Amino acid sequence: MTPEEKAIELLVKDLEKIEDSMLKRIVALVKSGNFTDADIASLSGQVDFFQQINQLGYAGKLEKFFEQYDEILKKINQEAISRGLQGLSGASARTLDNYVNLKAGELLGKAQNFGNELQSALMSNLIAGTPIKDLVATLKETITPLSGNQLKVALNAGVKEFRVLTTKKVYEDLPEQRFKLYGPVDEKIRPSCHGVMKYQPKEGYTKKEIDEGAWTKLAIQGAHEFSNNAKGEIIPSSYNMMDGKEYTFLFTGGFGPCRHEPLAIYKEN
Ligand SMILES: [Zn+2]
Repeated sequence: MTPEEKAIELLVKDLEKIEDSMLKRIVALVKSGNFTDADIASLSGQVDFFQQINQLGYAGKLEKFFEQYDEILKKINQEAISRGLQGLSGASARTLDNYVNLKAGELLGKAQNFGNELQSALMSNLIAGTPIKDLVATLKETITPLSGNQLKVALNAGVKEFRVLTTKKVYEDLPEQRFKLYGPVDEKIRPSCHGVMKYQPKEGYTKKEIDEGAWTKLAIQGAHEFSNNAKGEIIPSSYNMMDGKEYTFLFTGGFGPCRHEPLAIYKEN
């Protein structure tokens, strides 16, 4: 497991805990049962669910998680600098920083959503008079969870995306810089990634060549060559690739489970 994957595991676990504590708080709040309209009105007006989530540490956990983006950036930049290149300009570093802020905002938005959904789900259950013993289970069923596997996939994709964006920015003023696709070749590899990994030349491609379709050509080749899984069925992502999808510098084999990304290569490699 990479340090980033570890950090994601940790964050998702922490958020699960926050989610559970939040539900427990709510049950404690309504333990008395038998709500009148006045009770319901005051509960929905007084309790700021988003604020409660943050009190339980949500924003703090996120901030901590995004601190590692700094380390990712430094590592990729240092690699270039150690080769005598200039590395990131101040303006590029600020652009990446803005991007990270947007990403963090997106996750805060999810917590806001969670708070809103929880609040309205609670209201409807109070109005309906759902027995307290069924309340947590009912709420859990209704609301989109704050954590879970979907979040894990999104966070992993986000980290990979940030690395690719940093790579792009670090080598932006060096049109001759060459890149290769890196990542595992194993039983989980997508046919398109497999094609690029297998057929890309040792000296890689420039970003311009990749933008003009150098990877796409190899990915289509891979989609044909590796389109069957062990059972002889066609792997669905093969169809997409054969259907004129581009294999780009940023998206490579598609976000989510694609574990391949462009890295700069140097003459001595
Ligand atoms: Zn891939």
